[in-house]
Amino acid sequence: MPELPEVEVVRRGLARGLIGRTISDVVVLHPRPVRRHLLGADDFAAQLIGRTFAEPRRRGKYLWLPFVDGDALLAHLGMSGQFRFSPDSSELAPNTRVLVNFTDGGAQLRFVDQRMFGGLSLSEGGAALPAEISHIARDPFDPAYDLDDVVRRLRGKRTGLKRALLDQQLVGGIGNIYADESLWQARVHYARATDTLPRRTAIEVLTAAAAVMAQALASGGTSFDRLYVNVNGASGYFDRSLAVYGREHEPCPRCGTAIRREPFMNRSAYRCPRCQRAPIAAHFRA
Ligand SMILES: [Zn+2]
Repeated sequence: MPELPEVEVVRRGLARGLIGRTISDVVVLHPRPVRRHLLGADDFAAQLIGRTFAEPRRRGKYLWLPFVDGDALLAHLGMSGQFRFSPDSSELAPNTRVLVNFTDGGAQLRFVDQRMFGGLSLSEGGAALPAEISHIARDPFDPAYDLDDVVRRLRGKRTGLKRALLDQQLVGGIGNIYADESLWQARVHYARATDTLPRRTAIEVLTAAAAVMAQALASGGTSFDRLYVNVNGASGYFDRSLAVYGREHEPCPRCGTAIRREPFMNRSAYRCPRCQRAPIAAHFRA
């Protein structure tokens, strides 16, 4: 699933191609991506005609496309959702699901989704923040993000540190990749208990998360599973800058010890066994 930097790359690409444009026509090629619209695909398409896009917005990994009328198109990228701008005469990429045409006759917006866990839905009154995602916490790129408050709430939880970082109601935007990278940066084990974590360490990890996501954004994001691309269909190249994620058996960039991959929440956690030693039993919460 794309994390904050990848979604922000997509948001910026959409901002360049959408602001001020009015929808003339919507074609739903497969009903599954619009399944959250309860009145069906035809109604979804009809509801969008005549609406004009304002600036696309994001909170954490969640993206929405506000209209100037105060409603919004909520976009769930899921595992493999992508937006592309293409001339409306160009051949459709495989797995193209929804086409959006504009009154200016310019590039068509296409929603492509191979696995179809993602989708589009109309959020009434959702321009400022769709109700569907109002429980998502602010992310480190949000001007109103409050690091002290996140640190306080993190240390108030009785859980493991990586589990807390992945909790989108604590801090938005961090997924498996950037959690592992920030824990490595701060030299902390993923199962370190949050309730006994020193305040200084909590600040270090969260600061590292913001920094590594900013670096990834500057590289166009991470295209680790090849399913994430920007609106031009191009991949990001932060993959090569990853220190531990996806690097099992490779040397730690700091100390040279082989990186380990361990099972974690039905997925994996990557760590350097020397830089990120397992906490003592009393401080271990996986
Ligand atoms: Zn190391």
